[in-house]
Amino acid sequence: MRIDPHALSVPPPTPTAETLPFWQAARRGELLLQRCADCSRWVFYPRALCPHCWSDRLDWAPASARGTVRSFTVVHKPGHPAWAVAAPYTVAVIDLEEGPRMLSALVGIEPAEARVGLAVRARFVEVGEWTLPFFEPAG
Ligand SMILES: [Zn+2]
Repeated sequence: MRIDPHALSVPPPTPTAETLPFWQAARRGELLLQRCADCSRWVFYPRALCPHCWSDRLDWAPASARGTVRSFTVVHKPGHPAWAVAAPYTVAVIDLEEGPRMLSALVGIEPAEARVGLAVRARFVEVGEWTLPFFEPAG
């Protein structure tokens, strides 16, 4: 079964001062990542210090919102009952083009069609009052 994101009523994210720009950008349909002003490397998840050089000079920059599936699993018994309507669904680790990895769900694809190396792009879906970045096949 494919996830029908519009049928989801899952617990919302809990933005912090460090993550709020990410969620605000998602609402605009934009994948914003932090980038270090000292070592130029991309950073995800949002945080106060660069994990590569410990600089506190992290800026926000638009990312390509494209990547490839590094790994995935098909969830038949969700850890939270709100996801039961979507099961079975595919949770994937995405290697973003910029380098960081992001855990998300695949939409627009049957779980049996998921595969390592699949090219994907972000698909922003309103769930309640927030917008979640899921991923769909890029082809
Ligand atoms: Zn750095």
